[in-house]
Amino acid sequence: MSMDTTIKHSFALASRYKAHYPERCSETLDEALYSTEAYDTWRTLDPGHASPVFSRFAALPALTKRELRAGGPQGFVPHGRDIAEGLEAHEIELVATSGATGDRVTNVWYQPWWNASEAASWQLNAHARAAATGAHREGILTSPWCAGFPCEEGYLTMEQRTLGRFLFLSERSDPSSWSSDLMDRMVEELNIFEPVVLEANPSFLARLSRHIVRRRLPVHSPALIVLTYEYPSVLHRSQIGRAFDAPIASSYGATEAGYVFMECEAGRLHQVAATCHVDFLPFAPEHGGPDVGRILVTTFGNPWRSLVRFDIGDVVRLDGHTPCPCGCREGLTLTAVEGRTINLTLSPEGRAVAQGSVDRALASVAGLVEYQVLQTGSSTYHLRYVAEGNSVEGVANEARDALRAVYGPAAVITTDSVDAIAPDPPGKYVLSKRLDPVDADVLLDDQFAPSGL
Ligand SMILES: [Zn+2]
Repeated sequence: MSMDTTIKHSFALASRYKAHYPERCSETLDEALYSTEAYDTWRTLDPGHASPVFSRFAALPALTKRELRAGGPQGFVPHGRDIAEGLEAHEIELVATSGATGDRVTNVWYQPWWNASEAASWQLNAHARAAATGAHREGILTSPWCAGFPCEEGYLTMEQRTLGRFLFLSERSDPSSWSSDLMDRMVEELNIFEPVVLEANPSFLARLSRHIVRRRLPVHSPALIVLTYEYPSVLHRSQIGRAFDAPIASSYGATEAGYVFMECEAGRLHQVAATCHVDFLPFAPEHGGPDVGRILVTTFGNPWRSLVRFDIGDVVRLDGHTPCPCGCREGLTLTAVEGRTINLTLSPEGRAVAQGSVDRALASVAGLVEYQVLQTGSSTYHLRYVAEGNSVEGVANEARDALRAVYGPAAVITTDSVDAIAPDPPGKYVLSKRLDPVDADVLLDDQFAPSGL
């Protein structure tokens, strides 16, 4: 095997962390490299303790779902702990990720670590700090296949969808087929249950919000609405804001990695530095770098899963480098999560365009309710959209102009007015994608790109 001798740079060197943070990173890295079977082959790549820890991270590859599957759950358990014993003792469970991209991974689920990661994320938002005690009532509106009790034919009672302090508002996974009666029921249950926090897929809650506004229904407003599970579209977010008189925060994470970023009350996303380290890999300048790039997540303190430099599969935009008014100074700060790498599209000239750029451009189109952009060829894009009012043609014209501003004058844009747009299974809404998916590895700036990507 030949060693890659190119020195890789690390963005973490430019971030601020609390005093114990580099040591925490170093302990985490040592545990992976020297006490966890799946990282055996990484050991020779480690420049060693004489190097700063962020440079050690930068010298290592990225961990992908492929490696997670190959190593299996047991391969990533540190210190030779035995999964069978953990299962026997009911300390852990095995959970398969929902497989949005068809590549399911079996994860060891250790609830105390998940709870600690969630609680750490709450510390980054003033509304969450005040409202989320850990014993608070929570309403959840997501695909029941991701969390809750699925039932696609017939309906379940409120009792059947309640689990301790959690109420799962829908047993149906496709909001485009929700009946008015079902949405009326959700509103009634919100008014009875009075959740302190309402956690939702933005597209699901937007659908309910449009119903609430159209019917002028009185609805209980929680202390905080947390958007998670999928990319929060600006359109969906503003529809939710019209129905609920509550602060809204976006929470970002993954089944494999726990809570990774939390939006503060000033609207920026802060790294949950108490439970994870994030390496930022900028795109090359022609693709939006150095502010736009991908992230690799390393988790701290999970006794059942050593996760180092996990490629979580999303594109993010770093904040504009001014201190956040909320006062949080630690770790990476983002302006936005820009969407999944599998949802990247390309301009006719081959420039990467993330979901976030498409979304911000379409957000200003008056009368646009929902949309999906599919790139069908190198310069052809098809927009399916839902419009409200009588302005269908006007919406199409304005949306075409907005997309041309993103993709450039050579873009050929066709449109199709539809009644509703369904989420992809298991219940995640896709705003943009390319028929022939973009190879996100070639977009990276070489100075930061890990070997193997
Ligand atoms: Zn902030």
